Amino acid sequence: MNVPFYGHVRQYHNIKAEIDKNLNEVLESGSYVMGPMLKRFEKEFADYHGAKYAVGVGNGTDALWLSFMALGIGPGDECITHPNTFFATAEAIWIAGATAVFVDSDPKTNCIDPSKIEAAITPKTKALVPVHLYGQCADMKAIRKIADKHKLFVVEDNAQGIGARGDGFKIGELSDAVCTSFIIQKNLGTFGDGGAVVTNNESVDRVVRRLRNHGSEKRSCHSYGFNSRLDDIHAGVLSAKLKHIDEWNDLRRKWSARYTACLKDAQNITLPYAVPGYHHIFHLYVIEAKRPEHRKALLDFLVKNGVDAKCHYDIAIHQQEGYPWGKQARIAGPIPNAERNAACCISLPMFPELTQEEVDYTILKTLEWDRTVG
Ligand SMILES: *Cc1c(COP(=O)(O)O)cnc(C)c1O
Repeated sequence: MNVPFYGHVRQYHNIKAEIDKNLNEVLESGSYVMGPMLKRFEKEFADYHGAKYAVGVGNGTDALWLSFMALGIGPGDECITHPNTFFATAEAIWIAGATAVFVDSDPKTNCIDPSKIEAAITPKTKALVPVHLYGQCADMKAIRKIADKHKLFVVEDNAQGIGARGDGFKIGELSDAVCTSFIIQKNLGTFGDGGAVVTNNESVDRVVRRLRNHGSEKRSCHSYGFNSRLDDIHAGVLSAKLKHIDEWNDLRRKWSARYTACLKDAQNITLPYAVPGYHHIFHLYVIEAKRPEHRKALLDFLVKNGVDAKCHYDIAIHQQEGYPWGKQARIAGPIPNAERNAACCISLPMFPELTQEEVDYTILKTLEWDRTVG
């Protein structure tokens, strides 16, 4: 049996009529850039978050650095995040001209560890950049408290957490901007690239809108800007898919619960930790080999048996060849948890359109490997 890692085409087939209807509407309208479909999706996406504004941009990386820019963050400034995330979290800080400061992650959730943040704050610190890693919210209440005390911005990297909630807080409620990616493999994915900034801050909304469109608010008038728009074709796909996101996230939670129930007695792996009271939407279901030397063995075993497992992220950002670009990065304090996560992580197939047979086969093979280790 082969278990794929993604179900993009299955998802398209399941709601083909709804997607095709929106695509047809865009194609027949003749408005393909900054048209009515983009406007419609931006309104729907802001409403989904219970936020005032949503601005469509070219991708998740742009959503991040355009937000930094809109908040006045640039050269000489520092943004605090953690290194066991996708490269783009830090890349966006660098594109804005600022310095990425890495602190350790929480040993259980793998999100940023709030107790490590204050020691990393300097007079140059401008923003905290938590990542809702794997689809589980970072501890936003603790992060907001630190930000208020030190007068810092909070920019949420929410490329992985659309639809997630914390215990008593929603995404967007405790931050200055929420940055989302719509690349196809994310929980809400278009047929290509896309991104958005969600905010309640009128100035962030206005400035990102201007920056994404050549610095233009009024026809023919331009200030400093770029080209990073969300095309109406993508807005049409996303508008159709947004209606299903909660039901899809529930399916991810269902498959995750089955993995967790059936793998709980395995001796050689650690299962993902879901914080009580949080609504984890399992963008990824990431287990860890208890011993780093077992990671490759398990990964190879699964792949050899047809299960397309992967790693997120086996090379942490500070371990990348490109690091540190110029002098724009620094590690504050030891980061053993982030390095353990990078050394031990394995992502099992996780998408809503999985079948029970596929999930059970993945469980069977994982347990089979676990027994060979003893
Ligand atoms: C995917 C992702 C991004 C970047 O999104 P793109 O749309 O690929 O630019 C940023 N941060 C995290 C955590 C991601 O997973």
